[in-house]
Formats: sequence, C-alpha cells, structure tokens
Amino acid sequence: MKTKKIAIIGKGASGRAIFYHLAKIISSNTKKYSNIQIDVYDPRENSGVAYSTDIESHILNMNLSSMTIEPDDTSHFNSFIQSNPEVLVNYSEYLDNYNDGNPPRKLIRQYLDFVMKEALALEKLHPSFSTTFFNKEVENITRHGNQYHVHTNNGVAEYDHIVLSIGNLEPKDHYKDLVGHERYFSNPWPFSRLLDGIGSSLTNDKTVIGVLGSSLTAIDIAVGLKEKDYKGKVLFFSRSGLLPSIQSPRRSYYESKLKHLSHSNKSSIKLEEVINLIKSELQEVERKRIDFNSIFNERYVRSARENLEHDIRGANLDGFKYQDYFFNISKYLPAIWERIDIDDKLNFLANNMSLWSTYRSAMPLQNAKRINSLIQSGELQIHKIAKDRKSITITDRAISVKNSENEILECDYTINATGTSLDTKSTKNRLLKNLIQNDLIDHHPAGGLHINPRTFEVLNSKGNVSNNLFLIGSLTRGNLFYTNAYEANVSQAKNLSKIISNLIIKKDESR
Ligand SMILES: Cc1cc2nc3c(=O)[nH]c(=O)nc-3n(C[C@H](O)[C@H](O)[C@H](O)COP(=O)(O)OP(=O)(O)OC[C@H]3O[C@@H](n4cnc5c(N)ncnc54)[C@H](O)[C@@H]3O)c2cc1C
Repeated sequence: MKTKKIAIIGKGASGRAIFYHLAKIISSNTKKYSNIQIDVYDPRENSGVAYSTDIESHILNMNLSSMTIEPDDTSHFNSFIQSNPEVLVNYSEYLDNYNDGNPPRKLIRQYLDFVMKEALALEKLHPSFSTTFFNKEVENITRHGNQYHVHTNNGVAEYDHIVLSIGNLEPKDHYKDLVGHERYFSNPWPFSRLLDGIGSSLTNDKTVIGVLGSSLTAIDIAVGLKEKDYKGKVLFFSRSGLLPSIQSPRRSYYESKLKHLSHSNKSSIKLEEVINLIKSELQEVERKRIDFNSIFNERYVRSARENLEHDIRGANLDGFKYQDYFFNISKYLPAIWERIDIDDKLNFLANNMSLWSTYRSAMPLQNAKRINSLIQSGELQIHKIAKDRKSITITDRAISVKNSENEILECDYTINATGTSLDTKSTKNRLLKNLIQNDLIDHHPAGGLHINPRTFEVLNSKGNVSNNLFLIGSLTRGNLFYTNAYEANVSQAKNLSKIISNLIIKKDESR
C-alpha cells in the first residue's frame, strides 16, 4: 500500500501540537492508520519564537493553566511535572497554584520537548509510522495534481498533505528609513542577538535605548535588559502612550451567551450585537452600570504611570473581574468572528483592536511591578509620539525621536517592538511570497491568509480551496480572530489532526 506522506512546516508550539495529536490518533489504531510518514521541517532548533528565550523575566503572558497540549485539560501538564521532579523544585513558586502562575516561558520549551518525546514514543510503537526531522527552511511549495512538492535547498519531496505552522511574520518596520542603521534592531528576537548587538554599552549608565512600542514586547525588552544588568535608560515610544493593563491573578468561570452565539447556526452575526452583548455581560460581571466611554477615556487621560499604579492597586485588591470575563470568552470568538461581515471586521480592527489588546493582552502582575519600579527609579520613561513619520530622524550615531510635547530624545540604540506582523502583502518571507506567486494562497483583508475555517485549508486568489494544504496559527486571524495564543493554536492543531486523520482513512477506503 502506498505510504501517505504528511509534511509539517514549522516546529514551534503549533507544529509540535499537530504532530503530537496526529501521533496520538495514528498510534491509537495501527490497522486504520497504516503506512504513514510525517516529515517536519524547521531551520530553527527550538520551540518557536516565544519559548526560546532564556531570560527568567520573560514570563508567560497567559495563565499557566492554559498552556497544556490537551485543550482544557491540565492533567497532561501535570504528568510532565510529575515525570520531571526538578521542574517542581525550580519552578515551585509558580506551580503551587496554577491560577496565579506566570512562570518563565522557557518552562514551556521544556514542556514542549516532553510533548515531542511522548509523541515520538507513540510513533516507535507503530510498525508502519515514521517521522523525519529536517533542519531546513521550506523555500517553496508547488502543486502537481493531487500532490504537493516541498522545495528546500537540498531538493524536492512529494506529499499528500501539508500543514503550514509557520507562526508569526517578522515585525513590520513602520519607519523604513531606520532599516539598515547599525544601531536599529528590526526585531528584538532572538533576545541573545539583541544583547550581543548592544554589547558593552549595556554596562554604560549613559546609554539610552529607544523602544518603538509600549505593549508586551516592549515590556519584555525592558525587564530583559534589566535582568542583564543594563545600567542606562529605556524610553518607550508609542502612539497611545499606554501600557497594557494588568492580568487578574484570579480565575473564575462565567457562562457567557457568546457560547450559544458561537454554536448557533446563524450564518451572519452583526458586530454591534457582539459588542452590545459583551458590554451587558461586563456590567453583570462587575455588578454595576459601566460608563464605557469614560472608562476608556480615563485610560487615555491618565499617564501610563498613573494607569499602572491604578491597575497594580486593583490587581492586589480583588483582581479584575473583566479580565476573567475576557479570558472566558476568548475561545468563542473564532466561530463568531468568522460570521462577521468584512467591513465590520475592518472597522473593529481599525478602531477597537488596540483597546482590545490593551485589556486582553494584559501583562502579568510580576512584570507590572518590575516596570513600575523602573519608572519610579527613572530608568524607564514612556512617551507618546505623533503618527507623523518625521517624528524620527537619523544621524550616524543616533536615532532621535520627537515626542508629543516636541521634546527631542536621542537614542543610542532603537528597537522595533511593534510586535509580529500579519501583513502577508509586504512580507519578506520567501515561502509565502512563492505560495502567493503560485496562487496557492491569498491575503485576507483582515490579516493573514484566507482559509476555509471548517477544514483549515487555504484558499487562493480566486477563492478556490487548495485541497490538503492546511494553515494553523496566527496567520488565520482574518478568519478566526483569536489566533496568536498557545491555547488557540493547540485547539486548532487538535481539530486539524482529526480532519487529517479522517482524510487518511477515507483515502484507504476509496481504493
Ligand atoms: C515574544 C512572544 C511571546 C509570547 N508569549 C506567549 C504567551 O506567554 N502565551 C501564549 O499563549 N502565547 C504567547 N505568544 C504567542 C505565540 O505566538 C503562541 O503561543 C505560539 O507559540 C505560536 O506558535 P507557532 O508554532 O504558531 O509559531 P512560532 O513559535 O513562531 O513557530 C513557527 C516556526 O515555524 C518555522 N518556520 C517559519 N517559516 C518556515 C519555513 N519556510 N520552513 C520551515 N520552518 C519555518 C519557524 O522557524 C518557527 O520555529 C507569544 C508570542 C511571542 C512572539
């Protein structure tokens, strides 16, 4: 019988999750699933961008309870801890209580290695299931009838099914003139490269590092530099001048009507209906009438420092019920977002997304305290800058930034912390460029690539499905919205593993 060949492109959390779930299904029934080969491609030897950092203060920005490979089941994570007693010792302060824990992200790297070991042990038990790992970048994929060819610099291999789990795109350079400047970093990751680039200036207390952005990536940069004994100043520059809000350390369950909406068979959902429902449930959760305009305005009127102190006080008191609420509803959003009209989606992304991110992509309390002490000591300043591209000027030695009060601030190094991009139109990613040229994929106007959300197959520019070419991860945002979080990626991977395993059986039966 012909071997069924599956390629997984990308070995971050999503690639590992799809491999694990496929391995589980395939090994559960050796008769139903026979003669299967999975090849995994990734030029990087790590667990993806997020979990490769070794810095202790680069902590999970999601609750530990959501970081399991089995969606909604923490017992798998528990089995990892039980079989690795040193983890319990090293991370005891975070593991005592899942609900309060935001451990260093490198713990998840260890967990994902454990997941892979388990999956490979299952593969070994199966007589006709094999896996090969290639430390290679996939440069191109071409279609030949029902097969795909995967091209690397080493040659070409043929597959029946391909999973693109290539993660996020490189951050976008909003200030193009900075590109190529020797003291400008387009991407803070890997963090070790950034530290090497700054070199001995780290220990010079006169050094000024400018950070373009003030969200979670900027927080990672400030706390990471501090951990490495950086002596100089850090300046955050962003259009909002806002820091993320702070995560609630408590978790409680809330039965949202969004659950029913997500399961309903309505073919289209109005954004207004969703926003009104969220507003009404937030008032129920908070047990008070909320003046939403003034809440949002207050945040803009107060300084970043005042917001931070306000949020730390709140988090230390009762936590934030609205955060529990957002945490609870996130998983219903993909099925709802998919049925929202494209104009409404674009409107939301243009006008509300940054506020949503401020509250939903909140920073853990531990890092909020670190940031607060950096602000208090004067080591960190947060500046608003105008949209105007002229607010940044370049000299040989430095990059100068004009803030909203027309002060000119000179930076010895400048780091782009505007976060990962979903702009597949301007990406330099070679594989995506080739896939677009081969008309196997197409840009989604709301970010990332077009997929069929029921099968995860990509669509081309004519809206036709590229059969058996699947996409999971953050690039599915245009269709599924909540896609740049581990729990969302793992859940997509589990669903896709069921789809692929069904296709493998069907293929056999049809012969
Ligand atoms: C700094 C940072 C911190 C984060 N922290 C959290 C967090 O605390 N909690 C949370 O839930 N989420 C977090 N996230 C979101 C994170 O993106 C997801 O949790 C998850 O790790 C995404 O995994 P991924 O496998 O989809 O993507 P990635 O981790 O980006 O992995 C994609 C992999 O694909 C490979 N690849 C790309 N192109 C090719 C190609 N052409 N050929 C072969 N291989 C290729 C890359 O080398 C990479 O290893 C964070 C994201 C970032 C960037």
